[in-house]
Amino acid sequence: MFSKVYSAMIYGLEAEIVNVEVDVGNGIPVFEMGGYLSGEVKEAKDRVRVAIRNSGYELPPQRIIVNISPADKRKDGTGFDLPIALGILAANGIIAQQKLLDCIAIGELSLDGSIHGVNGILPSVCEAAERGYKRCYIPHKNLQEGCMVRGIEVIGVDSLQDIVRKITDNTGTQLHCQQQTHHVEKNQEVIDYLDIRGQQAAKRATLIAVAGMHNIMYIGSPGSGKTMLAKRIATIMPELSYEEKLQLTKIYSVAGELDADMPMVQKRPFRSPHHNITATALLGGGRIPRPGEITLAGKGVLFLDELTEFQPSILEALRQPLEDRKISIVRLNAAYTYPADCMVAGAMNPCKCGYYPDRKKCHCSDREIQRYLGRISQPMWDRFDISVSVERVGFDALSEQTQDTDATDTYSSQSMRKQIEQARQIQRRRFEGMGIYFNAQMRAKEIEQFCHLREKEYEVMRRAYDKFQLTGRGYHKILKTARTIADLEQSEHIETRHLLEAISIRSYERG
Ligand SMILES: [Zn+2]
Repeated sequence: MFSKVYSAMIYGLEAEIVNVEVDVGNGIPVFEMGGYLSGEVKEAKDRVRVAIRNSGYELPPQRIIVNISPADKRKDGTGFDLPIALGILAANGIIAQQKLLDCIAIGELSLDGSIHGVNGILPSVCEAAERGYKRCYIPHKNLQEGCMVRGIEVIGVDSLQDIVRKITDNTGTQLHCQQQTHHVEKNQEVIDYLDIRGQQAAKRATLIAVAGMHNIMYIGSPGSGKTMLAKRIATIMPELSYEEKLQLTKIYSVAGELDADMPMVQKRPFRSPHHNITATALLGGGRIPRPGEITLAGKGVLFLDELTEFQPSILEALRQPLEDRKISIVRLNAAYTYPADCMVAGAMNPCKCGYYPDRKKCHCSDREIQRYLGRISQPMWDRFDISVSVERVGFDALSEQTQDTDATDTYSSQSMRKQIEQARQIQRRRFEGMGIYFNAQMRAKEIEQFCHLREKEYEVMRRAYDKFQLTGRGYHKILKTARTIADLEQSEHIETRHLLEAISIRSYERG
């Protein structure tokens, strides 16, 4: 007897519907599976057989053949356990085949028949809804996530017996995703630039960086507060739209990083991988392909602390995706793309000992300092438009009370975000229909078009070019930053003061 069950597989960040066909017959008891399956999928036959028996269903010894199609794509993961088991039960008449025609099922079985959660539920349910399926049976653990999708019935199941009963009786608890709101902010520490005393220059540079989505490098001694500054970047970015949240949630779903209680990503990510990270974990890929940190940081911040400690080859591999804002993963018989649209904040010590410019502690020579900065390749430096030195806060600033509210308010996360939103609006209008969104993304032709300098300003740049021995790239970076500073002032023209400030926070260039 023959049966067919629908399920879904993840392909990049998207899902595809697959057919699980089962044929059972008399003959030598064998269990064969085909359809371009990874080792993990093939192991399903052991789990499925035992799980069926332990759930109390008696099956005669029989020949079982399972085929999963389309055959041209490799299937990974453990989510096929459940459809295979359902197929066997249907082929044996324990479930009616017609009840399986308009639904999909996904889940991993354990030997006792219980159903475990799997990754990638959100894209799978989205795809099923789009394809017009009526119902999705998914692991109970993933129910909140699956319920975010409208237009399809999503039913959580926790054991094989449970799903057989729900399919047979046409029952199941249908949840909707209104339970989101009261989870927000749970366990989330509220952080704000107001928490950081002093550091006006670094906060100002951060404001400019976020306004134009310029990558920023913090240079300062240990304990100067680089991490505190970077951590708060996400607090001054505009709120995520619903579409952005959904897109991010899909990424986190495929990566298996969703919180069961708070299934929708609500905040801009802040990812801070350790410098020992592997290329796969940073960029994505792996045996069962998974998005890397650069993708998980999407719409938010990728913070690379102690940048000089990263393997040069890893930083090298990071450059192209940062420029393209996406990363292509190539595998046997498959290639797909993950987005990589995050802002990068880097942090490093100013010199080998870490204490420059404090000459009481630091005895590094200028040459040594240059060599230290040169540990990061020039092409990598070119990814950073802005760099700012973060100095240890002096005692006076630290003990300063909030009586000076004006100065403090300028750098609250709220007021910074307001300024950034205004500057972003100008950029949105400027780049409409051009395929770019932020000043940092301008290429030579847009720089020419939007960073036109009048005579006096041109002269300023000509002098700076000679004085600082800028390269063409360095010159362009300054113009992009200056454009953002002008946008923050809602100034149509780039003025001398904008240029001077952009020059003062330009990133390092090897002379
Ligand atoms: Zn030093």
